[in-house]
Amino acid sequence: MAKIPINLKEGSIQEDDVIVGIDLGTTNSLVAYVKDGEPVAVKENGKHTLVPSIIHFDREGAVQVGDLARKQLLDAPERTIYSVKRLMGKSYQDVSDQRNYFSYQIIDDDREGLVKIRVDNRFYNPIELSSFILKELKARIERAIGTSIQKAVITVPAYFNDAQRQATRDAGKLAGLDVLRIVNEPTAASLAYGLNRVDSRETIAVYDLGGGTFDISILRIEGGIFEVLATHGDTYLGGDDFDRAIADLWLHKQGLESEQLNPEQKQAIRILAEDAKKHLSTQEYFEERFNNKQVAISRSEFEALIDPFIEKTLKSCRKALEDAGLSISEIDHVVMVGGSTRIPRVKEAVSDLFGQAVNDQLDPDEVVALGAAIQADILAGNQKDLLLLDVTPLSLGIETIGGLMDVIVPRNSKVPGSVARNYTTSVDGQKNLKIAVYQGERDLVEHNRKLGEFVLSDLPPMAAGIPKIEVKFLLNADGILKVSATELRSNKEQQIEIRSAYGLSEEEMAQMLLDSIEHAQEDMAVKALRESINEANHILRSTDRFIEQNKEHFSRDLLDELSNYREALSQAIQSADKNLIEKSMQELNEFATPLAHQAMDMTILEAMKDRKV
Ligand code: ADP
Ligand code: MG
Repeated sequence: MAKIPINLKEGSIQEDDVIVGIDLGTTNSLVAYVKDGEPVAVKENGKHTLVPSIIHFDREGAVQVGDLARKQLLDAPERTIYSVKRLMGKSYQDVSDQRNYFSYQIIDDDREGLVKIRVDNRFYNPIELSSFILKELKARIERAIGTSIQKAVITVPAYFNDAQRQATRDAGKLAGLDVLRIVNEPTAASLAYGLNRVDSRETIAVYDLGGGTFDISILRIEGGIFEVLATHGDTYLGGDDFDRAIADLWLHKQGLESEQLNPEQKQAIRILAEDAKKHLSTQEYFEERFNNKQVAISRSEFEALIDPFIEKTLKSCRKALEDAGLSISEIDHVVMVGGSTRIPRVKEAVSDLFGQAVNDQLDPDEVVALGAAIQADILAGNQKDLLLLDVTPLSLGIETIGGLMDVIVPRNSKVPGSVARNYTTSVDGQKNLKIAVYQGERDLVEHNRKLGEFVLSDLPPMAAGIPKIEVKFLLNADGILKVSATELRSNKEQQIEIRSAYGLSEEEMAQMLLDSIEHAQEDMAVKALRESINEANHILRSTDRFIEQNKEHFSRDLLDELSNYREALSQAIQSADKNLIEKSMQELNEFATPLAHQAMDMTILEAMKDRKV
């Protein structure tokens, strides 16, 4: 007889385990699941499905994620973290040249270890930060479907290396999720696309241009099997670059350098530039005010700005086709993924390259999460006629004499899988052999990324060239690697699990898990009130600072009036009434915002005067 699981919390009969699909994006994240055989993305209160991948910390360290955090980009850039995905699995060294891009503080005390972000006196690593986003998504779907969720499939860009995949998996764990599978984003997208094409045989290109990353994948779908033939891309190319190009153009026209702006102004112009970009996807012209001056851009101006970026993506497409050994005419469909593919120029350029109209029927924002949900459903055993073969995006190998990279698993090899190769010693009586494992496409290991190393020790004394050492690479379905070395004559064996250099130790992980459990137990209402109070206190402090700094700029009357609003908010905090606090905050904000704009303009004018001298 079958067992009937009971949901202990509700006393009801537990539905089958729901496994969710998560698109953990650089810019936006979302969660989806398969409902009655169809993948659906989860909406909050009937609003949009996207959760901005933004994390805000208030002064007390309380966390907000998503739209609420996004609102803080302007007011508190130093405590509002965006694009954390760009930092996943990276050391400070890896990201130091992008430092200007982040308006929050990246710590450089440990150049080689996992990068850390400082907010006040707290330190966060990218894994923790990503786990906040995942927790938010988990909470979202739990609210939507009313049961608790433990299992997930999470997507990553095809170009993520081992360290980045590990970091993503760790973030899931930290959020209380059992990550069943890490799937490449374009692969997930093709799965969403191919769901209804089980009977056909097609070759598909998936063009994914998001906020921070670009990926192109070539896939073959046949008899329900999705096979990735090749992938290519750029982890530093996306809509963010377009925003920056617009902002730089505007600043240039005003004779300003981005270095002359304070963090608030930098964010303001970045957000305005993004508005302009989105506007131009449907309109011909954008016009607004910044610094009390007009800023404008036409669609053709915008297109000229982004053409070099688009050309780069096309180059990647050609490269992927080459890797797959296919000509353009062999591609049956081109699928568009990612918010930036809403830009008409992008569609046009990709259509031109492939000589066919692109397929943009799927919602470019949701398609990856929907595919992840389908993959989750496959893992749950609900979709027996679908199977997914994936490939490893970068070559894996070991260092040999002279610092050369000896590739053992070439890029675009299928995973899961294993490859073995034999080596020998170069010195008589050699007792130890160091195996250093690298990932990358360059011939010298120093240009590739080191994943780890280990020593096969206590070899019995033998003449050079006699030992037969088998090095075996085992890649699991996530593209995560285990390496073993065996001396076949003596059967000496050394197995090593390549632990990512930028991962977390077990202790760190345990501590973080404890912390997060503590956090989760807090009562929601109390937490919401606390968040309001924190935000209100923050506004009070900013107001005080503002009054102090702008004594000369404004009349006594205006400043008195501002003080009155400030006082009202202060009273509201005492009352501990969340609604009253929110209302007072809003009133204070409405009064103060125009003043802040005026003050900003005056400061800029002063800065420009200084420059001319
Ligand atoms: P990611 O996968 O990196 O999280 P998304 O696929 O969510 O990114 O895409 C986000 C990007 O898409 C942002 O740069 C955003 O500005 C851009 N975007 C969203 N909507 C539009 C639009 N209508 N026109 C142009 N760009 C858009
Ligand atoms: Mg994406």
